[in-house]
Amino acid sequence: MDKKKKPPQTPTVKPRYTLTQTMAMFSTEDACKTYIRDLRWPNGVVCARCKDTNVHEVAKKPFHWQCRKCNKNGYRFSVITGTIFENTKYPLVTWFQVAYLMCQSKKGMSALQIHQQIGSGSYETAWYMCTRIRAAMKNETFEKLIGEVEADETWIGGKDSNKHLSKRIGKRGNTVGKTMVIGAISRKGNVVCQMIEGAGFNTFDSFVRETVSQKVTLVATDESPGYRHLGAHGFVHRTVNHTQNQYVVGSTHTNTIEGFWSLLKRGIVGSYHKVSKDYLPLYLNEFTFRYNHRNDPDIFRALLSRV
Ligand SMILES: [Zn+2]
Repeated sequence: MDKKKKPPQTPTVKPRYTLTQTMAMFSTEDACKTYIRDLRWPNGVVCARCKDTNVHEVAKKPFHWQCRKCNKNGYRFSVITGTIFENTKYPLVTWFQVAYLMCQSKKGMSALQIHQQIGSGSYETAWYMCTRIRAAMKNETFEKLIGEVEADETWIGGKDSNKHLSKRIGKRGNTVGKTMVIGAISRKGNVVCQMIEGAGFNTFDSFVRETVSQKVTLVATDESPGYRHLGAHGFVHRTVNHTQNQYVVGSTHTNTIEGFWSLLKRGIVGSYHKVSKDYLPLYLNEFTFRYNHRNDPDIFRALLSRV
């Protein structure tokens, strides 16, 4: 027996579905519609408009129902009414493939890469689908972060992509064409971030107060004056002084959120090359969603239940 061979590790997380499995499961429009129907209405179909349970299937039109409470002649709706798939001519099979690819790619995939992978439709189609899926990835049921939390800001975009420059230069130096993003991360949990325009220092404080529970055991930040009132707002707040090359003092550091920033930046530089301010919030949705579902064995289902 070859001693060098390590015994196979027991996976701690259930393996995710492969592309082949996913494509086999969702190879027909009916299979996709059944999946959406059961995700949307696990306890039976309700009206897409008024939520009434008294709905009737439309004869000879599968996945269509009507509700007489909304309209006495019957309000008609289908399984995709009110979802991101509504009013599109693209097959659900294609939508599902795009959604799968966007869930699985850690660094993100550009519309061009998606277009090449699915091998059908136009680039514009792929771009449209990606944009709608990113919008659906937005966290609608936000819960404040708990545990040990780090908060930090960074600059995205602009011409300066020199990775050798220290982050400090990005923060205090030339910020022309860049957009500020602020984020908070629970060390063992979720990340939340948002784009900031016209950053006033009040913004940092209020962002933390909106996103972080006051019951956290620690909020770690750098020395930026934007966070100076956190203590007065009841947070256990400790700082490291990056301008003096102080990065870790005991449990006080911002390494977790720096890790998320580098994932985001590598993804944006590698896959999207250039991100305009208009679309940056959508990319933040995408990277946040994937990060927050990094241990979710069925991230695909998590995404599809938001559409
Ligand atoms: Zn109704």
